Amino acid sequence: MGRLSGKRAIVTGAGSGIGRASARLFAHEGAQVVAVDRAEDAVDETAALIRKEGGTVSSVAADVSDETAVKAFVEHCIAEYGGLDVLYANAGISGGLVPLQEQTVGYWQEILAINLIGPFLAIKYASPHMIRQGHGSIICTASVAGLRANAGGTPYSASKAGVVSLVQTTANEFYGTGVRVNAICPGLIETGMTKPIFDGARARGSEDRIGQLNPLKRYGLPPEIAQAALFLASDDASYVNGQAIAVDGGLSST
Ligand code: NAD
Repeated sequence: MGRLSGKRAIVTGAGSGIGRASARLFAHEGAQVVAVDRAEDAVDETAALIRKEGGTVSSVAADVSDETAVKAFVEHCIAEYGGLDVLYANAGISGGLVPLQEQTVGYWQEILAINLIGPFLAIKYASPHMIRQGHGSIICTASVAGLRANAGGTPYSASKAGVVSLVQTTANEFYGTGVRVNAICPGLIETGMTKPIFDGARARGSEDRIGQLNPLKRYGLPPEIAQAALFLASDDASYVNGQAIAVDGGLSST
């Protein structure tokens, strides 16, 4: 029996990196998965991988900042699998490192819309189903950048600090419902988002210096975040609620 046997899960940002690794691991552990990403080809590729691995998945191309699309992918999960037990609101963008004086309101709005309003919308539409059944696990991907300064661009860090607050506040708002809400705060992980950092370092021949700031002296890989998501999604985390858990090699402790 897998650790998510019988559970129905939505994973956003499932076309790449942390989301793809989590969708695969959730399916491997027995969940029926709705994989969501705005990149249609990428999410279809994730679904094909999962099916090849013997998992149950359905892929949806949707933008997590579009309220109508979010409502639709939650309804799709209910229609396809008869319910919803796990929401992993993971999709996000970095926006790069732009000096503050050069940042525009549009730049802020795009990052906040995807990284902060996206998880809010997913929680808004997923939670009624969970509250009705008296249980559910909601996980959001925040970041070490939301816990400490200088780990990302300004609006990115602010959006991720917002996600930490969103899960703490929502866990309290869901008082007595049985629905748990937590965040994972990854450190530096090799994914599509961080490709420019890795490509740049490799081009300079300084790959071994990436990730040296944390006590483990290395960067992380998507499956290492997926394992934390699996824990929070599963009943193993039945008493973990309202937390922002850093999975960062110890970076946030430095
Ligand atoms: P990634 O770029 O590999 O994957 C992100 C996925 O999200 C992509 O497939 C992209 O198409 C999708 N996406 C982006 N905007 C979307 C939208 N509006 N609607 C639907 N899908 C959308 O990056 P990743 O590193 O796997 O990122 C996953 C999460 O982890 C993000 O929230 C990111 O901020 C967070 N994070 C990453 C790191 C890191 O070092 N990689 C560190 C801390 C936090």
